[in-house]
Amino acid sequence: MFKKILPAIIFFSVYACNSWAQETDKGFTVIPLGVKGGDDESNLSSYMIAPKGSDKYVCLDAGTINAGIQKAIDLKSLKGISEEIQRRQIKGYLISHGHLDHLAGLIINSPADTAKNIYGLPSVLNILRDKYFTWDAWANFANEGEKPQLKKYTYFPLLEGNTYPLEGTDMNVKAFELSHGNPYKSTAFLIGHNDSYALYLGDTGADEIEKSDKLAKLWQNIAPLITAGQLKAIFLEVSFPNEQPDKLLFGHLKPKLFFNELSKLEALTNEKAFKKVSFIITHVKPPQKTAEIVKRQLISGKPKDLKLIFPEQGKCLTIN
Ligand SMILES: [Zn+2]
Ligand SMILES: [Zn+2]
Repeated sequence: MFKKILPAIIFFSVYACNSWAQETDKGFTVIPLGVKGGDDESNLSSYMIAPKGSDKYVCLDAGTINAGIQKAIDLKSLKGISEEIQRRQIKGYLISHGHLDHLAGLIINSPADTAKNIYGLPSVLNILRDKYFTWDAWANFANEGEKPQLKKYTYFPLLEGNTYPLEGTDMNVKAFELSHGNPYKSTAFLIGHNDSYALYLGDTGADEIEKSDKLAKLWQNIAPLITAGQLKAIFLEVSFPNEQPDKLLFGHLKPKLFFNELSKLEALTNEKAFKKVSFIITHVKPPQKTAEIVKRQLISGKPKDLKLIFPEQGKCLTIN
């Protein structure tokens, strides 16, 4: 039964890239370079995003780079040689938090990369500066921290609530703090292009578990964009199945908490506008058997008109 419903949901607003790429100048192309929440180092959180029809992307998190581009080439979502695509088409990286599964691909592939910005909250950029690009852990390819500084990457701090252009692209970004195992911080990035928006959340727990109001504040900020029909998609993590005890969530969501947060967001908008938003499920944790349970619980627990997308590595999505 689920198999029948799912393609209908997907084709409602997220199309295969190639056939629809020239349709309008609204919306985004997303190429998932990594979609999982652990274990498989060749498939960890990382999403290339560009305005539809453009090849000037940024990377939302960078857990996996090269293996994901490779897969995207195999699936004909990208054309060319992997290293060249990283060098030429990824114009910058937006890092949600300092955990390795969100930035290992950036570090490992840095020697072959070209000069670009790394965007993040100051506290997140400090982790890159003080824990990774240190010469102890890896050569310092950035412009701050341990000397010598190779200055290939430029840290670009995002102050909460301000909008910044993403250099080399036609997009801008606004950052919001998230709680990921309070007091550890993660980030949501609101990506804008003309009057289209996509919202990417890094790892986050539910407000009630985190004893936080970060998601409540984020929902308040972005609800008007949903009501206006401008926010097209929200990337949100669901790491564990419902059976995971709350005290073992470690700053992550499970389907029950995911739906609970969504109903809070919906209450700030209206039903008609809300059901036009696509929810892209990220960071489901292995093993495969558990991941299947998460997917089942999301599909069976969802309100009828809610659009859920389960991204696959290398498989291009168009968000309208
Ligand atoms: Zn994390
Ligand atoms: Zn993670």
